[in-house]
Amino acid sequence: MSAEPVPQNIVHPASDSDFSIHNIPFGIFSTARDSQPRAATRYGDYVIDLRLVRQLGFFKDLNLPEAIFARPALNDFIALGKPVTSAVRARLQELLRDERGFGSFFAYCAVPVQAARMHLPVEIGDYTDFYSSKEHATNVGKMFRDPDNALLPNWKHIPVGYHGRASSVFISGTPVKRPVGQFKPTETGGTPGFGPTRLLDFELEMAFVVGRPTQPGQRIPVARAEDYIFGLVLFNDWSARDIQAWEYVPLGPFLGKNFASTVSPWIVTLEALEPFRTEGPAQEPSPLPYLQFEGPKNYDINLEVAIRPADGEETVVCRSNFKYMYWNMCQQLAHHTVNGCNMRVGDLCASGTISGPEPASFGSMLELTWRGARPLTLADGSVRKFIEDGDTVILRGFAAREGIRVGFGEASGKVLPADPWPLS
Ligand code: MN
Repeated sequence: MSAEPVPQNIVHPASDSDFSIHNIPFGIFSTARDSQPRAATRYGDYVIDLRLVRQLGFFKDLNLPEAIFARPALNDFIALGKPVTSAVRARLQELLRDERGFGSFFAYCAVPVQAARMHLPVEIGDYTDFYSSKEHATNVGKMFRDPDNALLPNWKHIPVGYHGRASSVFISGTPVKRPVGQFKPTETGGTPGFGPTRLLDFELEMAFVVGRPTQPGQRIPVARAEDYIFGLVLFNDWSARDIQAWEYVPLGPFLGKNFASTVSPWIVTLEALEPFRTEGPAQEPSPLPYLQFEGPKNYDINLEVAIRPADGEETVVCRSNFKYMYWNMCQQLAHHTVNGCNMRVGDLCASGTISGPEPASFGSMLELTWRGARPLTLADGSVRKFIEDGDTVILRGFAAREGIRVGFGEASGKVLPADPWPLS
């Protein structure tokens, strides 16, 4: 981590930066000089320390609680509510636009991105994973069940999901150790296999951060759901397909999923994504009334996944889009709370694998290689059915329209070899 001097004046982002004036996301960072994790925004190639911006008095009229930006997670800041978080974001845009008035604040508050270490942006109380891409659910149904009747009967009526594990959601850049576990006995029977997963996969997902709590018993109506969504991150739901296939009956995903998930460091607010709203796929049959909604509830966000082998160059293996989601976030939240399940600030709800209609838009190796039947060739000539030790998997996402670009940066993780097994 280098600490090169910061220019006196504001350094504006390149036109292809994810972190334009239209973005102004929120995250948590630390530096070698000050290891206390604290709140920041990102502008181009600089991380801006919000604790210092506050010290300079620029948020004085917003009456923020003492030390709100000095905390190691954004939960308390987010819990102040959208009127406050929006005002902070708007003030930052004002400061960054006024070169002559506020140029010197930059030298005091900005840190080059190379000198910043990013941390999880929120303390995650609970993490839920949905299964909301029709293309993904159809592909999986074709492979594992009935090619002619791939979707299960409930799928078009329920935003299907399961409760994941919050303790193993890691910030981008955290290595992922290949998990060890049980696999199906061979076709001829016998005892289950055991060892490092042979079918390690990624799942291209996005996740939203809950921004407003509910009480037990309180439902979030679909029309009000956006008030409860603070923003989004990229999400890699790492999956061990052989462990998953053996364990999932009858209660669903468990050890094939809960060893690691990777999130991108910057929470992009729903406000920043407003210009990219779009219609989702038509829902036929019409869902039950509590899941019906009006207006565009999907977002046009370009997504990609790249694999970089150890010491090799990266290859983009998938290009998809968040707009393909069949069930939108408002429906997910309305469904999640229809039984009275309470939400807490910082809870994370992931979309499920985001696959599009074209084979190159499938959001997992399982689908891209069709269970290994159609291996991918990477730029260095090596072949992949699933993810190998030493591979780094990188998710990226951005939205762009009429000169406005808002992006997420990366959610990346390098796969390390499994620990020796069996464990004594
Ligand atoms: Mn998933």
